Amino acid sequence: MIRIDGSKGEGGGQVLRTSLALSLVTGAPFQMENIRAGRAKPGLLRQHLTSVKAAAEVGGAEVEGAELGSRALTFRPRAVKPGDYHFAVGTAGSATLVLQTVLPALLSAGAPSSLVLEGGTHNPAAPPFDFLAQAYLPLVRRMGPSVEATLERPGFFPAGGGKFRVDVRPAPLQPLHLLERGKVVRRMATALIAQVPFEVAQRELTTVGRVLGWAAEERRVEEVKRPIGPGNALALAVESEHVTEVFTAFGERGVRAEAVAEAVVEEARAYLEAEVPVGQHLADQLLLLLALAGGGAFRTLPLEGHALTQIETFRHFIDVPVTVREVSPRVREVVVGRG
Ligand code: ATP
Repeated sequence: MIRIDGSKGEGGGQVLRTSLALSLVTGAPFQMENIRAGRAKPGLLRQHLTSVKAAAEVGGAEVEGAELGSRALTFRPRAVKPGDYHFAVGTAGSATLVLQTVLPALLSAGAPSSLVLEGGTHNPAAPPFDFLAQAYLPLVRRMGPSVEATLERPGFFPAGGGKFRVDVRPAPLQPLHLLERGKVVRRMATALIAQVPFEVAQRELTTVGRVLGWAAEERRVEEVKRPIGPGNALALAVESEHVTEVFTAFGERGVRAEAVAEAVVEEARAYLEAEVPVGQHLADQLLLLLALAGGGAFRTLPLEGHALTQIETFRHFIDVPVTVREVSPRVREVVVGRG
């Protein structure tokens, strides 16, 4: 039995989700203690519990400790069952993180799957739907499997109520090499608003124009039709010859629209200036795919806590070397397996 200390590294939900994902793929059972010990509200929150239950359903697993607030878990998967699934977080907790937990296993399953996911689709500290659809899934497709995601309606914190569908046609994951970004071919800033004044979106987009110099036709407002609750996200998509990246910030009560925009503009600017293909969040998520493919390489910004925690977590389940080389102060090259 693999034993994992959930307080190591980032000490958050990622250690748990990556362990569940890898346990499903490899069939290896694990025990985790100190779940999310590094967070203000430790243990399994609704989103994590939904991920555990989703993984248990997909893998026909036997589970101990699958309760709200639980700080210890034992997970023994049997076999991955492709099929039709419906997972609802039940709160505004991130539904894209639930997908992150079960998708790797379904990518290499013996038959197609269809998933309906409900909960938050645009949450701080989680992959927003647009990142999933425009940045992450195109790379998954390049590695072999065919995956399509369709947003039915967005869900923001605190009301939730978001819903999307994902169709998966599995295929063996092939190594991916992403060392060059190529020329930037299209940029688009989208200010998504639900029950939030139009003027907030305009101020965010004006800040993008002022700081990054993006033209009027590279900025747009998208108003959610029939929203369940209020919310605002500002997404900057950078489409280049070899990859598309999406950076997102979320509006918050009491935070000025300009400040929301400035945070994400800085993120996009650091990415554009370093001339790397892969940004910080995409790096976290690509690492897992490359480890499962057994090889590949990409260039990114200096790795942060989440990516390093990902590498630590793989080591429990799969024997694949990961090396990180400093290309320049702002650029790292990550090589998985023999590259
Ligand atoms: P907690 O640590 O409280 O359990 P959590 O379950 O949300 O929180 P984290 O460990 O913080 O888990 O992991 C968040 C995940 O969401 C990581 O995979 C990270 O790369 C991803 N992510 C966060 N923000 C973005 C973003 N703006 N775009 C894409 N991915 C993101």
